[in-house]
Amino acid sequence: MFIDTHAHLDYVLQNVQEDQTITDLDFLFTDQLESIVHISLNPDRFLRDYPILSKHKNIYFATGFYPNNANIPNFNEDQKIEELKKVLTDYKHVALGEIGIDFKDDSYGTPMAQQSLFEKQLALAEELNLPVVIHSRMSFNECYHSLSKYKTSAILHCFSYGIKEAELILNRGDYISFAGLLTYKKSLEIQEVAQMIPLDRILFETDSPYLSPVPLRHKSNLPSYVQHTYQFFAKLRNIPVEELSLIVKDNFQKAFKI
Ligand SMILES: [Zn+2]
Repeated sequence: MFIDTHAHLDYVLQNVQEDQTITDLDFLFTDQLESIVHISLNPDRFLRDYPILSKHKNIYFATGFYPNNANIPNFNEDQKIEELKKVLTDYKHVALGEIGIDFKDDSYGTPMAQQSLFEKQLALAEELNLPVVIHSRMSFNECYHSLSKYKTSAILHCFSYGIKEAELILNRGDYISFAGLLTYKKSLEIQEVAQMIPLDRILFETDSPYLSPVPLRHKSNLPSYVQHTYQFFAKLRNIPVEELSLIVKDNFQKAFKI
């Protein structure tokens, strides 16, 4: 059985739903998919989607302000953090996230604004004793610096760095989550990390509907496609995929305190 530790089900449902409203979410759980962590990009979206998604017992929730919220004019950070805190305490969550820093382009906000929003959420996670799901693109040093100030445990989602960065994360006792990116031909650095990483520190995810793994790159991603990333990793490490999935289930329960 497989677990997708990072999917945006609101976007997935938008893609498949077109005109009809979805009432039965079983269609997501094909091909031995057991559980999904749904990531809401802000508390309003969480509240909008919760009535539908909470109908399925194998969907878990994480909510946080995605880094690009730092670029919203007049974003009242303290008030927004209070709104997030309310949602995280009123509804069962397995993590705070995804949060972090992204330097891909200017649309994410200034480094200072992103760092401030990130650190306020790290402090909240520490207060609520929740793990954080971290989004870090072209910003490893900045994310690591902020993370180091807090005791909260972390899952580095869609890992896109090399061995040096992986070791720093592993030394903190945190988890590394591999997305479809791992299966891409050009992802040699990430594959190098996959070769050496201790098996008790890994998770797999789709980041659906984005980043479909090989051989489905032309398709919109679905949580069940996570099996291809498991299979790629199992082959790389020469272990049976059934054995890998048992290890990862254990990691999932530890990382998200389930
Ligand atoms: Zn995501």
